[in-house]
Amino acid sequence: MATGVEQTTVIIVGAGPSGLATAACLHQQSIPYIILEREDCIASLFNKKSYNRLHLHLAKNFCQLPHLPFPASFPTYVPKADFLKYLDDYAAHFKINPRFCNRVKFAKYEEDEEKWKVEAEVVGGGVKRYEGRFLVVATGETSDVFIPEVDGLSEFKGEVIHSTQYKSGKGYENKKVLVVGAGNSGMEIALDLSNYGAKTSIVVRSPVHIVSRWSVNLGLMLLKIMPLHLVDSFLVLVNKLMYGDLTRYKIQRPKEGPFAGKVRSGKYPIVDMGTTEKIKSGEIQVLPALKSIQGGGYEVVFENGKCYQFDVILFATGFKRTTHLWLQGGDCLLNKDGLPKPMYPNHWKGENGLYCAGLARRGLYGAAMDAENIAQHIFKLI
Ligand SMILES: Cc1cc2nc3c(=O)[nH]c(=O)nc-3n(C[C@H](O)[C@H](O)[C@H](O)COP(=O)(O)OP(=O)(O)OC[C@H]3O[C@@H](n4cnc5c(N)ncnc54)[C@H](O)[C@@H]3O)c2cc1C
Repeated sequence: MATGVEQTTVIIVGAGPSGLATAACLHQQSIPYIILEREDCIASLFNKKSYNRLHLHLAKNFCQLPHLPFPASFPTYVPKADFLKYLDDYAAHFKINPRFCNRVKFAKYEEDEEKWKVEAEVVGGGVKRYEGRFLVVATGETSDVFIPEVDGLSEFKGEVIHSTQYKSGKGYENKKVLVVGAGNSGMEIALDLSNYGAKTSIVVRSPVHIVSRWSVNLGLMLLKIMPLHLVDSFLVLVNKLMYGDLTRYKIQRPKEGPFAGKVRSGKYPIVDMGTTEKIKSGEIQVLPALKSIQGGGYEVVFENGKCYQFDVILFATGFKRTTHLWLQGGDCLLNKDGLPKPMYPNHWKGENGLYCAGLARRGLYGAAMDAENIAQHIFKLI
């Protein structure tokens, strides 16, 4: 046995909700584990990289982690601060003590020893080594920021930020802000900016399903008793009645239903928090895809050839995953983009004791299911 190497049964990479849920399920089965986290806190996405007004989009019964329900006093849509408090209590309850500031930069399965060897760069200096029979990748669907290449962006004279750096519209009053990306974060940040008095525009490049919060939660419940295509038809009908024809505001609805699209391509429907009303009233302007930044100033050119000036460009263009940079021999489980290759519901299990939690594009609900499956599977094996 190598010296200075910590031995355990399971190594979990990532102390977000998926890693914590896996740790709790292992704890319940008395299976030893180590959990490694690159940041200095649990749930760094919610702690450090999300905006202040964030509430969980789905009702609380779809978002709680295994073995510890949300307190009854929590509202249906849990605010960020309450969710973070719940996660702190969750970690304390299951005695989860992540090794913080441990950024995993290498993991490989050694066939001879039947072990995963993991190396983590310790923030502040040094490398730590860990060995375990099982490895759980819980590094999140949103592990690394993605900003697309835009011609001339480096010469833009205004401020350029990613949605993970945005906290609130304070400080953006009267500024002309362009939000690029009409996912859930982009749409809600646009609303927040507008509420704070920013002159807000949003790029809506491709068709999106805009759905009300209650309808999507009802849809999730109906999925338990109805086929997906019927639930989708219901959602489209209800939301067409609620929002009317949005094409006149340059927002198209995809042909594929909201849940079908999510299952097939992982594209989440947009849960409307009030942005649609602002688009209809003209307070938020919808623009087509970005083409380039012109002349090294504040001018942004769009695909329709029009050009507008902005003080700020906020990229809500999502994330990529970089698991392939540190995980060797994980090709059976994860593709180049760090997402599971096996189809749901078999997406969480690879070969040689490799697992993934929270990567099946099923949010916290999916992460909780993965954690339970993984712990049960390991329990049977040992
Ligand atoms: C703004 C926003 C709002 C969201 N709201 C909801 C919602 O309401 N409901 C819902 O179900 N989902 C929501 N999601 C999706 C959300 O990402 C997940 O549900 C949840 O965060 C998944 O948890 P996770 O542990 O899988 O990933 P994460 O929360 O991303 O946690 C992964 C952890 O792994 C760590 N890590 C990554 N790479 C390494 C490495 N190499 N070494 C060590 N540690 C590493 C990261 O620092 C991070 O702490 C939201 C996402 C965003 C961005």
